[in-house]
Amino acid sequence: MSSIEEKIEQIYQQVVRRNPGESEFHQAVNEVIGTLAPVLRKYPQYAEHKIIERICEPERQIIFRVPWQDDRGEVQINRGFRVQFNSALGPYKGGLRFHPSVYLGIVKFLGFEQIFKNALTGLPIGGAKGGADFDPKGKSDDEVMRFCQSFMTELHRHLGEYTDVPAGDIGVGAREIGYLFGQYKRMTNRYESGVLTGKSPHWGGALVRREATGYGAAYFVDEMLKVRGESLEGKVCVVSGSGNVAIYTVEKIEQLGGKVVACSDSDGVIYHERGIDVATLKQLKEVERRRISAYADVHRDARYIPGGCIWDIPCQVAMPSATQNELDASAARRLVANGCVAVGEGANMPTTPEGARIFLEAGVAFGPGKAANAGGVATSALEMQQNASRDAWTFEYTEQRLHAIMTEIHRACYETAAEFGSPGNYLIGANIVGFTRVAEAMVAFGVV
Ligand code: GLU
Repeated sequence: MSSIEEKIEQIYQQVVRRNPGESEFHQAVNEVIGTLAPVLRKYPQYAEHKIIERICEPERQIIFRVPWQDDRGEVQINRGFRVQFNSALGPYKGGLRFHPSVYLGIVKFLGFEQIFKNALTGLPIGGAKGGADFDPKGKSDDEVMRFCQSFMTELHRHLGEYTDVPAGDIGVGAREIGYLFGQYKRMTNRYESGVLTGKSPHWGGALVRREATGYGAAYFVDEMLKVRGESLEGKVCVVSGSGNVAIYTVEKIEQLGGKVVACSDSDGVIYHERGIDVATLKQLKEVERRRISAYADVHRDARYIPGGCIWDIPCQVAMPSATQNELDASAARRLVANGCVAVGEGANMPTTPEGARIFLEAGVAFGPGKAANAGGVATSALEMQQNASRDAWTFEYTEQRLHAIMTEIHRACYETAAEFGSPGNYLIGANIVGFTRVAEAMVAFGVV
C-alpha cells in the first residue's frame, strides 16, 4: 500500500472511532474515500488542506424531541434529526426520511452521499439529510399532520431558502411537505417558497419533481447502455420497491420501450409477465396507499410472491429503488448468472459493497445512486430556481432540463473514470467528480 492509501485508511479508521455504531455511515464513507487515492496523487493540495478529514465531519448535527398526540389522545415521542453536512457549494439540501429505522447513522450516511450527489448535478446546492424514527404506516392523516407540525415547530429555526432546504425521501411526499410548509409559514410569518422542495405544483412546486428521481434513473441507465451500443428499448427490467422512485422508474422505462416485469415491497414481489401496469401502481400506492399485494387482485394474470426476492427474477436491467443494502453479493451473483447487463440505483446505497464489486467484475454497467438517482434533487434545484424567480415552467421544458442534467452527469462520470484509469467504472467516476467539485470550493474558502 502506498502512503496515500495508508493515509486514507487511517482517516477511515478515525471516522469509525469517532462515530461508533453507525455502520451505514461507515459504509458510505468507505465507499467514497476508498476511491480517492488517485485524486490525492493528482491534487496534493487536498491532502494538505485536510479536505477528506473535513468532509467526513458534518458542519452541524441537530437532534430533537418530537412530541405529538395520536388519535386516542395518547402522547407519542419521536426523535427528529437534521444533519447539515456540507455547504461548500450552496445551501444545505436533501430530503427528510420518516421511517422506524431512522437513527443518526442512517441520516449521516444519507447526508454524506448527498454532498457528492448534489455536486454531480452541477447546480449550487450543499448536502444535508434529516428525518425521524416516526412510522407513517397505519397512521391517520390527522396524526401525520400533527407529527409534521411538531417536527417543523423545532426544525424551522434551522431552515431558510439560503440556509437549508429539505425535501422528501422515504415516508415523506407531497402530503407531508404540505403540512411542513404550512407550519413553517405560520411559525415564520413568511411565504418562503424556496425553503422546501417537492411541494405540490398548486402552490409553488415544480412540475416533474414527483417523477424526477425515477425518470432520471431510467435516463441514466439508457445513457450507460448507449455507450455500449444498446438502449432500454426491448429490455426486460425489474424495479424493486413500489414507492415514488419505483413508480416513475417503471413509467419512464416503459416510455423508452423497455418492459418492467416485477416490482415489490417489504412483504413480497409482484411478477407480471406482460409488463407492470403503471396506472394501477399509481392508483394503489398514491391514491389508496395500499400494499403491493393488491396489484394481483386487480390483474388476475399477475402473480404475488409473498416473502419473495425480486432479484431471483431473470432480467437484463435491475433498478434497486427501495432502500439501503437491499441487494447483496448473493443477489448480485444471481442477477449476473441470469443475464443482467445493467444496474441503476434508484435508491440510496441499495447495493452492498460486495454486490457492487461482483457487478463491476462481471462487466455489468453499474450506475451508483449518487449519479443515477440525482435527478430528484436536481429537479429540486430547478424548483428552487423557479421559486427564486417567481416563475413556473412547463412539464416539457422541465423534463428537457432534467434529461440534459442526467446526460451530463453520465458524461462527467464516464469520462472521469477513464481519465483516472478505470474506464467504465461509474462508481469511481461519480466519487471523483463529486469530491473534486466540493474540494475546490473548500480550498478556496480557507479553513472554515
Ligand atoms: N431524498 C432525495 C435524494 O435522496 C431528494 C432530496 C431533495 O430533493 O432535496 O436525493
